[in-house]
Amino acid sequence: MTRAFFLRSNSLATIFRRFFFFFFFFFAHTCLGFQLDDHDEDITSLYEMTSSQQKNLTRSTAMKSLIEKITLLKRMESFEEELIEIRRQLHRRPELMHEEYFTSDFVKKKLEEYAIEFNAVGETGILARLALDGDNEKGKGKIAVLLRADMDALPLREEARVEFPSENVGAMHACGHDGHMAMLLGAAKILKGMVDRGEIPNDCAKDAVVYFAFQPAEEGGAGAKKMLESKAMREMLPVPATAFALHNWPYPETPSGTFGTRSGTIMAGAGTFEIIVKGRGGHAAVPHKNVDTIVCAANIVTGLQTIVSRKTSALDSVVITISTFNAGTVANVMPDEAILTGTLRSLQPKTFSWAMEELSKAANALGSAHGCVVDVSFASREVYPPTVNDARAANFAKEVAKIVFGAALDTVLDVDPVMPAEDFSFFANEYPSVMSWIGSYNKQIGAVHPLHSAKYYLDESILKDGAAMHAGYALAFLADANLRNATTFA
Ligand SMILES: [Zn+2]
Ligand SMILES: [Zn+2]
Repeated sequence: MTRAFFLRSNSLATIFRRFFFFFFFFFAHTCLGFQLDDHDEDITSLYEMTSSQQKNLTRSTAMKSLIEKITLLKRMESFEEELIEIRRQLHRRPELMHEEYFTSDFVKKKLEEYAIEFNAVGETGILARLALDGDNEKGKGKIAVLLRADMDALPLREEARVEFPSENVGAMHACGHDGHMAMLLGAAKILKGMVDRGEIPNDCAKDAVVYFAFQPAEEGGAGAKKMLESKAMREMLPVPATAFALHNWPYPETPSGTFGTRSGTIMAGAGTFEIIVKGRGGHAAVPHKNVDTIVCAANIVTGLQTIVSRKTSALDSVVITISTFNAGTVANVMPDEAILTGTLRSLQPKTFSWAMEELSKAANALGSAHGCVVDVSFASREVYPPTVNDARAANFAKEVAKIVFGAALDTVLDVDPVMPAEDFSFFANEYPSVMSWIGSYNKQIGAVHPLHSAKYYLDESILKDGAAMHAGYALAFLADANLRNATTFA
């Protein structure tokens, strides 16, 4: 039926239809807190829609309304102050991977304060659980979202000029994980508050669970992998249907106030390797009587570069860097052994495993050509697969971000993949997931230093947006799936 026809017609059916839509929106208004004034156009256009279009609009209006509630909460000054205070307390007490004891206790206390249940995972990991319908008994619920923050700091001496510097000299939150924890705690507080105040309609909240994973040892310790192998996580019920993570991104292409992600690989896979080259040492004046490990190892260094330049497609990408080369002690002795270490990176999971094999094969072949014995090992806990975003999860996150960050053209960005790695990749291998950037480059306040720099300085104004984004992603996914009676993305 066209709108023109509707305006001309005075039939009973039309009056009934009109009454139905007004009744529906009155119901929606009371149930979901819709702002009728904002949706006048939606009401008019509803008359022209098919029933499935109407259903979709209802759903998306419901989602929008819920996320808008969250964005109102993030604007509360006291909320922002609390997140900044959390971040600063964590910033003062940075802890390296596997040593996040103060950090873990701090997060647990906050969760207790918010009355959110949690389990310790391993020494310092934490898995908290919140049922949106208030029924938090384990095993109850049918659909779940996992939100993740990392906890560890880096072995750096802080050079940033802040009023709350690291008191643990030699350790620094130079990757902003202190901010990530503050954001996730903020999301927990937002969602728990909404549950307690009954702000999530029953049909959106029923059987819906949010997990908050505070994960240690991201900076090379594969804490995510360990956490996923734990009993607490293996026995999660319901199993998460999706996982979400944010990393602050202090680079000019993502200024503060923006959100970026992409579908497919967003971060490279990374492996740390060690190559031990064994020859036969002896007097430096008679090399023909020895087996020269240094010449052999030097050939391995250059030979490995051909994996990238000659064996990898120009459309694909691999990085092989030898970062240390240690051999010998004195000028007149040829050593028995040389040890090389380095990093391997690639964006595609297939290319990454191929390059690992190729590296071992090439180093061994070059070694035997020189009469040396070569041993190549990848530190297994340090091999991070590429972080591959699920296309549906990435699109969903972008839709949520348009509401949380505002729908201006340049706030929600499609970003390029990067060569650093993240152990969120282990979550992404387990569940359809999305890793995203929360822009944090801000020239005005000097937040311009890269991640892992001793001068790194986090723009704290992004914390509230990060909290809202975490909460928005979880709530929108769960409510949407519930309204569709589904367990995956639309
Ligand atoms: Zn880092
Ligand atoms: Zn990081």
